[in-house]
Amino acid sequence: MPWEDIKSSDLWYFDGNLVVAATDMEEKKRYLFKVHKSVLASHSPIWKDIFDLPQAPATSKGDKSDTFEGLPLMVFPDAASDVEDLFSFMYMIRHIPHEILKVDTVDEVAGALRLSTKYDIEHLMARIVGVLESDWPKKLCDWDVREKYVNHLLIEKDGEDMDKYFAEPAALIRIATECNVLAVLPAAFYHLSRVYWRVQPSEGATGVSTGAVSAIARTAKVEILEAKDLRRLIVGREALRAEVLDFLYRVKRSRDEGHIATCKLTSKAEPLVWPCKKGLNDWWTNHALNYVLNCDKDDMHPINLYDPLASLTKLAMDITDWNFLSSAKRPCSTCRGWAANEILAERLKIWESLPRMFGIKDAWRNEEDSSSEGETNDDD
Ligand SMILES: [Zn+2]
Repeated sequence: MPWEDIKSSDLWYFDGNLVVAATDMEEKKRYLFKVHKSVLASHSPIWKDIFDLPQAPATSKGDKSDTFEGLPLMVFPDAASDVEDLFSFMYMIRHIPHEILKVDTVDEVAGALRLSTKYDIEHLMARIVGVLESDWPKKLCDWDVREKYVNHLLIEKDGEDMDKYFAEPAALIRIATECNVLAVLPAAFYHLSRVYWRVQPSEGATGVSTGAVSAIARTAKVEILEAKDLRRLIVGREALRAEVLDFLYRVKRSRDEGHIATCKLTSKAEPLVWPCKKGLNDWWTNHALNYVLNCDKDDMHPINLYDPLASLTKLAMDITDWNFLSSAKRPCSTCRGWAANEILAERLKIWESLPRMFGIKDAWRNEEDSSSEGETNDDD
Protein backbone atom coordinates (compact mmCIF):
# COMPACT_ATOMS: atom_id res chain seq x y z
CA MET A 1 0.00 0.00 0.00
CA PRO A 2 1.65 3.25 -1.08
CA TRP A 3 2.11 5.83 1.61
CA GLU A 4 1.25 9.47 1.16
CA ASP A 5 4.17 11.43 -0.29
CA ILE A 6 4.86 14.88 1.09
CA LYS A 7 7.35 17.16 -0.63
CA SER A 8 9.23 19.48 1.68
CA SER A 9 8.33 23.10 1.04
CA ASP A 10 11.72 24.53 2.01
CA LEU A 11 14.01 21.70 1.03
CA TRP A 12 12.87 21.22 -2.56
CA TYR A 13 15.46 22.85 -4.80
CA PHE A 14 14.50 23.27 -8.47
CA ASP A 15 18.02 22.27 -9.57
CA GLY A 16 18.35 19.44 -7.07
CA ASN A 17 19.64 16.16 -8.55
CA LEU A 18 18.67 13.76 -5.77
CA VAL A 19 15.47 13.04 -3.89
CA VAL A 20 15.87 11.84 -0.34
CA ALA A 21 12.94 10.04 1.28
CA ALA A 22 12.36 9.43 4.96
CA THR A 23 9.27 7.89 6.41
CA ASP A 24 7.15 8.67 9.39
CA MET A 25 5.94 5.25 10.50
CA GLU A 26 3.17 6.55 12.74
CA GLU A 27 1.72 8.99 10.24
CA LYS A 28 2.28 6.52 7.37
CA LYS A 29 3.75 9.32 5.32
CA ARG A 30 6.87 9.60 3.20
CA TYR A 31 8.64 12.94 3.37
CA LEU A 32 10.68 13.96 0.33
CA PHE A 33 13.57 16.38 0.00
CA LYS A 34 15.02 17.47 -3.37
CA VAL A 35 18.63 18.25 -2.64
CA HIS A 36 22.07 18.12 -4.26
CA LYS A 37 24.47 15.21 -4.29
CA SER A 38 27.39 17.64 -4.34
CA VAL A 39 26.17 19.39 -1.19
CA LEU A 40 25.59 16.13 0.65
CA ALA A 41 28.97 14.77 -0.47
CA SER A 42 30.76 17.92 0.67
CA HIS A 43 29.36 17.48 4.18
CA SER A 44 29.72 13.74 4.73
CA PRO A 45 32.49 11.34 3.66
CA ILE A 46 29.95 8.53 3.94
CA TRP A 47 27.65 10.08 1.36
CA LYS A 48 30.62 11.01 -0.81
CA ASP A 49 31.63 7.35 -0.93
CA ILE A 50 28.08 6.34 -1.85
CA PHE A 51 27.88 8.88 -4.69
CA ASP A 52 31.34 7.90 -5.92
CA LEU A 53 30.12 4.34 -6.57
CA PRO A 54 29.09 3.69 -10.16
CA GLN A 55 25.35 4.44 -10.39
CA ALA A 56 22.98 2.31 -12.43
CA PRO A 57 20.93 4.28 -15.00
CA ALA A 58 17.71 5.20 -13.25
CA THR A 59 15.39 5.10 -16.21
CA SER A 60 14.84 1.42 -16.93
CA LYS A 61 11.16 0.88 -17.55
CA GLY A 62 9.15 -1.18 -15.13
CA ASP A 63 11.24 -0.39 -12.09
CA LYS A 64 10.68 3.08 -10.72
CA SER A 65 11.14 2.19 -7.09
CA ASP A 66 14.52 3.92 -6.96
CA THR A 67 13.50 7.09 -8.76
CA PHE A 68 11.19 9.98 -8.06
CA GLU A 69 10.07 12.26 -10.91
CA GLY A 70 13.03 11.00 -12.92
CA LEU A 71 15.64 11.69 -10.26
CA PRO A 72 17.49 9.10 -8.23
CA LEU A 73 15.70 8.35 -4.97
CA MET A 74 17.65 7.63 -1.82
CA VAL A 75 15.70 6.26 1.13
CA PHE A 76 17.04 7.14 4.57
CA PRO A 77 16.10 4.79 7.42
CA ASP A 78 16.02 7.78 9.80
CA ALA A 79 13.08 9.69 11.23
CA ALA A 80 11.77 12.26 8.76
CA SER A 81 11.95 15.04 11.34
CA ASP A 82 15.63 14.28 12.02
CA VAL A 83 16.41 14.38 8.30
CA GLU A 84 14.59 17.68 7.93
CA ASP A 85 16.51 19.14 10.89
CA LEU A 86 19.82 17.98 9.47
CA PHE A 87 19.22 19.37 5.97
CA SER A 88 17.90 22.63 7.44
CA PHE A 89 21.20 23.20 9.23
CA MET A 90 23.25 21.99 6.26
CA TYR A 91 21.50 24.37 3.86
CA MET A 92 21.44 27.06 6.55
CA ILE A 93 17.68 27.49 6.36
CA ARG A 94 17.90 27.41 10.13
CA HIS A 95 20.73 28.50 12.35
CA ILE A 96 22.08 26.63 15.32
CA PRO A 97 20.76 28.31 18.48
CA HIS A 98 23.25 30.27 20.51
CA GLU A 99 21.33 31.81 23.43
CA ILE A 100 22.43 30.57 26.83
CA LEU A 101 20.34 27.77 28.38
CA LYS A 102 17.50 28.25 25.91
CA VAL A 103 14.54 26.02 26.74
CA ASP A 104 14.28 24.35 23.32
CA THR A 105 17.95 24.10 22.30
CA VAL A 106 18.01 20.33 22.79
CA ASP A 107 14.79 19.88 20.81
CA GLU A 108 16.16 22.01 18.02
CA VAL A 109 19.50 20.24 17.66
CA ALA A 110 18.83 16.64 18.75
CA GLY A 111 17.83 15.30 15.32
CA ALA A 112 20.76 16.96 13.56
CA LEU A 113 23.18 15.81 16.25
CA ARG A 114 21.94 12.23 15.91
CA LEU A 115 22.36 12.17 12.13
CA SER A 116 25.57 14.20 11.94
CA THR A 117 27.05 11.65 14.34
CA LYS A 118 25.72 8.79 12.25
CA TYR A 119 26.82 10.21 8.87
CA ASP A 120 30.09 11.62 10.18
CA ILE A 121 29.34 15.27 9.44
CA GLU A 122 32.12 16.52 11.64
CA HIS A 123 31.82 20.29 11.41
CA LEU A 124 28.10 20.30 12.16
CA MET A 125 28.56 17.85 15.01
CA ALA A 126 31.31 20.06 16.48
CA ARG A 127 29.14 23.17 16.29
CA ILE A 128 26.18 21.49 17.97
CA VAL A 129 28.39 19.99 20.67
CA GLY A 130 29.88 23.46 21.19
CA VAL A 131 26.42 24.90 21.83
CA LEU A 132 25.58 22.14 24.32
CA GLU A 133 28.93 22.51 26.08
CA SER A 134 28.40 26.20 26.44
CA ASP A 135 25.18 25.47 28.36
CA TRP A 136 26.69 22.56 30.33
CA PRO A 137 30.32 23.56 30.75
CA LYS A 138 33.44 21.63 31.66
CA LYS A 139 35.03 24.41 33.69
CA LEU A 140 33.89 25.62 37.07
CA CYS A 141 34.49 29.26 36.10
CA ASP A 142 32.11 28.86 33.14
CA TRP A 143 29.56 27.18 35.37
CA ASP A 144 29.77 30.11 37.79
CA VAL A 145 29.16 32.59 34.98
CA ARG A 146 26.01 30.69 33.99
CA GLU A 147 24.83 30.52 37.59
CA LYS A 148 25.22 34.27 37.89
CA TYR A 149 23.12 34.75 34.79
CA VAL A 150 20.47 32.30 36.04
CA ASN A 151 20.30 33.86 39.48
CA HIS A 152 20.04 37.32 37.98
CA LEU A 153 17.08 36.24 35.88
CA LEU A 154 15.52 34.47 38.87
CA ILE A 155 15.41 37.73 40.77
CA GLU A 156 13.98 39.53 37.79
CA LYS A 157 11.26 36.91 37.19
CA ASP A 158 10.61 35.93 40.80
CA GLY A 159 7.28 34.15 41.19
CA GLU A 160 7.09 32.98 37.58
CA ASP A 161 7.48 29.43 36.31
CA MET A 162 11.25 29.28 35.74
CA ASP A 163 11.01 26.29 33.41
CA LYS A 164 9.81 28.78 30.81
CA TYR A 165 13.24 30.40 30.83
CA PHE A 166 15.80 27.65 31.28
CA ALA A 167 16.74 24.36 29.70
CA GLU A 168 16.10 21.26 31.80
CA PRO A 169 18.77 18.54 31.98
CA ALA A 170 16.97 15.22 31.33
CA ALA A 171 16.43 15.60 27.57
CA LEU A 172 20.03 16.68 27.20
CA ILE A 173 21.22 13.63 29.15
CA ARG A 174 19.27 11.34 26.81
CA ILE A 175 20.63 12.75 23.54
CA ALA A 176 24.17 13.27 24.90
CA THR A 177 24.30 9.66 26.05
CA GLU A 178 22.92 8.43 22.72
CA CYS A 179 25.49 10.42 20.72
CA ASN A 180 28.37 9.90 23.15
CA VAL A 181 28.76 13.61 23.93
CA LEU A 182 30.13 12.82 27.37
CA ALA A 183 31.61 16.23 28.19
CA VAL A 184 28.22 17.80 28.93
CA LEU A 185 27.06 15.03 31.26
CA PRO A 186 28.82 15.95 34.54
CA ALA A 187 27.33 19.47 34.64
CA ALA A 188 23.94 18.15 33.52
CA PHE A 189 23.90 15.45 36.20
CA TYR A 190 25.03 17.94 38.82
CA HIS A 191 22.14 20.21 37.92
CA LEU A 192 19.78 17.23 37.84
CA SER A 193 20.92 16.30 41.35
CA ARG A 194 19.80 19.75 42.50
CA VAL A 195 16.37 19.74 40.92
CA TYR A 196 15.18 16.13 40.49
CA TRP A 197 13.11 16.23 43.69
CA ARG A 198 10.93 19.12 42.58
CA VAL A 199 7.76 18.20 40.78
CA GLN A 200 6.82 20.21 37.78
CA PRO A 201 4.13 22.76 38.57
CA SER A 202 0.77 21.54 37.33
CA GLU A 203 -0.83 23.23 34.37
CA GLY A 204 -1.89 26.75 35.18
CA ALA A 205 -0.18 26.77 38.56
CA THR A 206 1.93 29.81 39.19
CA GLY A 207 5.55 29.48 40.22
CA VAL A 208 6.73 29.79 43.78
CA SER A 209 8.73 32.63 45.16
CA THR A 210 12.21 31.18 45.19
CA GLY A 211 14.38 33.72 46.87
CA ALA A 212 16.56 33.46 43.78
CA VAL A 213 18.01 30.04 44.35
CA SER A 214 18.90 28.41 41.08
CA ALA A 215 18.36 24.88 42.26
CA ILE A 216 14.98 25.42 43.82
CA ALA A 217 13.31 27.28 41.01
CA ARG A 218 13.73 24.74 38.23
CA THR A 219 12.64 21.19 37.46
CA ALA A 220 13.68 18.25 35.29
CA LYS A 221 11.74 15.79 33.13
CA VAL A 222 12.79 12.92 35.37
CA GLU A 223 10.25 10.61 33.71
CA ILE A 224 12.21 10.43 30.45
CA LEU A 225 15.39 9.20 32.14
CA GLU A 226 16.45 5.60 31.78
CA ALA A 227 17.16 3.34 34.74
CA LYS A 228 20.92 3.70 34.36
CA ASP A 229 20.59 7.52 34.39
CA LEU A 230 18.55 7.36 37.59
CA ARG A 231 21.16 5.11 39.12
CA ARG A 232 23.89 7.59 38.20
CA LEU A 233 21.80 10.33 39.74
CA ILE A 234 21.38 8.50 43.05
CA VAL A 235 25.00 7.34 43.29
CA GLY A 236 26.33 10.77 42.32
CA ARG A 237 24.07 12.60 44.73
CA GLU A 238 25.18 10.39 47.62
CA ALA A 239 28.84 10.83 46.66
CA LEU A 240 28.40 14.61 46.58
CA ARG A 241 26.78 14.74 50.00
CA ALA A 242 29.32 12.38 51.51
CA GLU A 243 32.18 14.47 50.12
CA VAL A 244 30.84 17.76 51.53
CA LEU A 245 30.19 16.25 54.96
CA ASP A 246 33.57 14.59 54.96
CA PHE A 247 35.19 17.94 54.14
CA LEU A 248 33.37 19.83 56.87
CA TYR A 249 34.23 17.27 59.55
CA ARG A 250 37.76 16.86 58.24
CA VAL A 251 38.50 20.58 58.64
CA LYS A 252 36.79 20.65 62.03
CA ARG A 253 38.96 17.77 63.26
CA SER A 254 42.15 19.02 61.70
CA ARG A 255 44.80 20.18 64.12
CA ASP A 256 46.89 21.91 61.54
CA GLU A 257 48.90 24.59 63.32
CA GLY A 258 50.68 25.72 60.16
CA HIS A 259 49.03 29.13 60.08
CA ILE A 260 50.33 30.26 63.45
CA ALA A 261 53.22 31.79 61.53
CA THR A 262 50.92 33.86 59.31
CA CYS A 263 48.26 34.69 61.90
CA LYS A 264 48.15 38.42 62.61
CA LEU A 265 47.23 37.91 66.26
CA THR A 266 50.05 35.56 67.29
CA SER A 267 51.98 37.13 70.17
CA LYS A 268 55.70 36.98 70.71
CA ALA A 269 55.12 35.92 74.30
CA GLU A 270 53.24 32.79 73.17
CA PRO A 271 54.56 31.93 69.72
CA LEU A 272 53.10 28.40 69.81
CA VAL A 273 49.55 29.48 70.50
CA TRP A 274 47.28 30.11 67.57
CA PRO A 275 44.89 32.83 68.77
CA CYS A 276 42.40 32.41 65.95
CA LYS A 277 41.97 28.67 66.37
CA LYS A 278 39.04 28.80 68.76
CA GLY A 279 37.23 31.44 66.74
CA LEU A 280 37.61 29.40 63.55
CA ASN A 281 36.52 26.20 65.27
CA ASP A 282 33.46 27.93 66.67
CA TRP A 283 32.59 29.32 63.29
CA TRP A 284 32.98 25.93 61.71
CA THR A 285 30.74 24.22 64.26
CA ASN A 286 28.16 26.90 64.87
CA HIS A 287 27.94 28.36 61.44
CA ALA A 288 29.28 26.13 58.66
CA LEU A 289 27.96 22.77 59.87
CA ASN A 290 24.79 24.36 61.08
CA TYR A 291 24.19 26.02 57.75
CA VAL A 292 24.66 22.82 55.80
CA LEU A 293 22.75 20.45 58.07
CA ASN A 294 19.95 22.47 59.58
CA CYS A 295 16.97 23.91 57.87
CA ASP A 296 14.73 26.84 58.51
CA LYS A 297 11.06 26.17 58.87
CA ASP A 298 10.20 27.57 55.43
CA ASP A 299 13.03 26.01 53.49
CA MET A 300 11.86 23.91 50.58
CA HIS A 301 14.57 21.34 50.96
CA PRO A 302 15.68 19.83 54.29
CA ILE A 303 19.39 20.38 53.97
CA ASN A 304 21.71 22.73 52.16
CA LEU A 305 23.54 19.81 50.63
CA TYR A 306 21.49 19.65 47.45
CA ASP A 307 23.68 22.34 45.87
CA PRO A 308 27.10 22.02 47.49
CA LEU A 309 28.79 24.31 44.97
CA ALA A 310 26.44 27.14 45.95
CA SER A 311 26.59 26.28 49.67
CA LEU A 312 30.40 26.35 49.68
CA THR A 313 30.47 29.68 47.84
CA LYS A 314 28.17 31.09 50.50
CA LEU A 315 30.36 29.76 53.32
CA ALA A 316 33.51 31.20 51.74
CA MET A 317 31.79 34.58 51.43
CA ASP A 318 30.43 34.35 54.98
CA ILE A 319 33.82 33.80 56.54
CA THR A 320 35.37 36.54 54.45
CA ASP A 321 32.65 39.08 55.36
CA TRP A 322 32.21 37.72 58.91
CA ASN A 323 29.51 39.64 60.74
CA PHE A 324 27.58 37.14 62.80
CA LEU A 325 29.69 36.32 65.87
CA SER A 326 30.91 38.76 68.44
CA SER A 327 33.88 40.67 67.09
CA ALA A 328 35.96 39.55 70.08
CA LYS A 329 35.91 36.01 68.71
CA ARG A 330 36.55 37.02 65.15
CA PRO A 331 39.70 35.48 63.69
CA CYS A 332 42.11 37.77 61.89
CA SER A 333 41.75 38.42 58.17
CA THR A 334 44.67 36.13 57.28
CA CYS A 335 43.15 33.18 59.11
CA ARG A 336 39.72 33.88 57.63
CA GLY A 337 41.35 34.07 54.20
CA TRP A 338 42.98 30.72 54.84
CA ALA A 339 39.63 29.14 55.72
CA ALA A 340 37.94 30.70 52.68
CA ASN A 341 40.67 29.29 50.45
CA GLU A 342 40.21 25.83 51.96
CA ILE A 343 36.52 26.03 51.15
CA LEU A 344 37.09 27.23 47.59
CA ALA A 345 39.73 24.56 47.00
CA GLU A 346 37.22 21.94 48.15
CA ARG A 347 34.66 23.42 45.79
CA LEU A 348 37.02 23.03 42.85
CA LYS A 349 37.85 19.50 43.95
CA ILE A 350 34.14 18.63 43.97
CA TRP A 351 33.70 20.07 40.49
CA GLU A 352 36.61 18.08 39.15
CA SER A 353 35.23 14.92 40.76
CA LEU A 354 31.81 15.21 39.09
CA PRO A 355 32.62 12.79 36.23
CA ARG A 356 33.73 10.14 38.73
CA MET A 357 30.85 10.74 41.14
CA PHE A 358 28.25 10.40 38.40
CA GLY A 359 30.01 7.47 36.76
CA ILE A 360 30.85 9.23 33.50
CA LYS A 361 34.28 7.86 32.93
CA ASP A 362 36.80 10.27 31.42
CA ALA A 363 34.11 12.74 30.38
CA TRP A 364 36.46 15.69 30.65
CA ARG A 365 39.86 14.04 30.41
CA ASN A 366 38.84 12.88 26.97
CA GLU A 367 38.87 16.49 25.74
CA GLU A 368 42.65 16.81 26.04
CA ASP A 369 43.23 13.47 24.41
CA SER A 370 40.89 13.33 21.45
CA SER A 371 42.82 10.37 20.05
CA SER A 372 41.07 8.15 22.58
CA GLU A 373 37.67 9.42 21.46
CA GLY A 374 35.05 6.72 21.28
CA GLU A 375 36.80 4.39 23.68
CA THR A 376 35.24 5.92 26.75
CA ASN A 377 31.68 4.74 26.44
CA ASP A 378 30.70 3.69 29.90
CA ASP A 379 27.64 1.68 28.99
CA ASP A 380 29.30 -1.57 29.82
ZN1 LIG B 1 44.68 34.70 62.86
